[in-house]
Amino acid sequence: YQQIIVCGGTGCTSSGSARLVDSLKEAVNEAGLSDRVAVKRTGCHGFCENGPIVHIKPEGIFYTRVKPADARDIVNHLADGQIVERLVYRDAAGNSYPHFHEIPFYAGQTLILLTNCGHIDPEQISDYVAVGGYRSLVKVLQHMTPEQVIEEIQLSGLRGRGGAGFPTGKKWAAARRAAREIKYIICNADEGDPGAFMDRSLLEGDPHSVLEGMIIAGFAVGSHQGYIYCRAEYPLAIKRLKSAIQQARQWGLLGKNILNSGFDFDIDLKEGAGAFVCGEGTALQASIEGLRGMPRVKPPRSTEKGLWEKPTVLNNVETLANVPLIIQMGAEEYRKLGTEQSPGTKIFALSGSLVNPGLVEVPMGKTLREIIFGTGGGIRDGKAFKAVQLGGPSGGCLAEQHLDLPVDFDSLSSVGATIGSGGMVVMDEGACMVDVARFFLAFTQKESCGKCTPCREGTKRMLEILERMCRGEATLDDLADLERLCRVVKNTSLCGLGQACPNPVLSTLQYFREEYMAHIVEKR
Ligand code: SF4
Repeated sequence: YQQIIVCGGTGCTSSGSARLVDSLKEAVNEAGLSDRVAVKRTGCHGFCENGPIVHIKPEGIFYTRVKPADARDIVNHLADGQIVERLVYRDAAGNSYPHFHEIPFYAGQTLILLTNCGHIDPEQISDYVAVGGYRSLVKVLQHMTPEQVIEEIQLSGLRGRGGAGFPTGKKWAAARRAAREIKYIICNADEGDPGAFMDRSLLEGDPHSVLEGMIIAGFAVGSHQGYIYCRAEYPLAIKRLKSAIQQARQWGLLGKNILNSGFDFDIDLKEGAGAFVCGEGTALQASIEGLRGMPRVKPPRSTEKGLWEKPTVLNNVETLANVPLIIQMGAEEYRKLGTEQSPGTKIFALSGSLVNPGLVEVPMGKTLREIIFGTGGGIRDGKAFKAVQLGGPSGGCLAEQHLDLPVDFDSLSSVGATIGSGGMVVMDEGACMVDVARFFLAFTQKESCGKCTPCREGTKRMLEILERMCRGEATLDDLADLERLCRVVKNTSLCGLGQACPNPVLSTLQYFREEYMAHIVEKR
């Protein structure tokens, strides 16, 4: 029994993988192989630049840039075990890699969260169940108390993958302690960082793992209702989530008396309109309530007063997808991955001037060099590395001297950067770091909700200065004003968007100050 797996992530779908599936099915029928060859569309394989991807299992043959016209050749070669040479991945030096496990892009990865994405049909719950899906939920409902579940998550050391790295078990324990009858679980799927597509790919490729994590979270904290807040710009993720929720209800995994355990839990999907600020927890909750998506002052924390003023646990997609894994493998085994203070793996969206941009999953603690030059294949066109922007517009730019830094929550914050949600934009020697800072600030300035003055006005003034610099019209006074504004906006803005938006400017000033000086035309 052979499977022709076709990548159905957004990248491959946009380059025609749906038509490719039809052509492969036709070719299989024509060849009379439909009783022993199945064509299956899965989630993202991460190697987006080289799509559409086709993966033949169990042989592990891997084809890139496949077109519908290649379908007959692929099918005709199945029976005799031959490989269609022209579709094999080749690196810049001309080396060919016919099998999945040989490709350097995959060789350095540890796929535990993404493993289903290139393997199961995300629109078939039976596929997820066949690979052990919902087994953790059964274990929790049949053999564990809510306190034991929280303890296991605390022991695992899981930290929120949405940016701040707050311990997930601690958050759950606070919500469990809140003595209220109604509590909520929210999955934050409002991934808005430029260059980030980790959560989108997980939702498109393995939506049930997120649902399973949410149901377990609900059981642990004593909640009976969950919401997924997903941006409407993710139509494929929304389609697959809707189908996953519906199928989970049909299978008795959502709704009343789940698996005859007496536990009730259901999930609704809320589509966001794409405002970056709605990724902030309190703004997101306001948006679900039907209000304008604006942050509010904290405390109170959401675990005390969140959605509709009820205790609420807000976790992001990747955090929740870790939960079934931890229950299944046990906290001790999970902690063997990653570092002492940042256990587990992290998914990164690699983009920019890389040979292999795409979606990767590596253990926490890998160095930037290993990720960029190993998995990412280094800088394209033989150019030199210059900088990497981590964590989107709230993160920071790091330079060559940081390449051997381990990528984990604490190491990055020690040099003024954050993992953020996992976007990694790599820049080559041709990048102008002042222009990079201007780009990210233009983004956050546009996305500022305008509620508080430092962010609303301060980002405008900062952007004006950066634009003057890029035009070669700035003075040393402008530079001093820019630095002062960065401090004010960082220290006095109401929410994380404003507090973090000076980071790209501050980090480029710290590590590439000479470039700012080169833009100054007039001396004081
Ligand atoms: Fe709105 Fe910016 Fe203030 Fe946050 S910091 S509340 S985004 S104006």
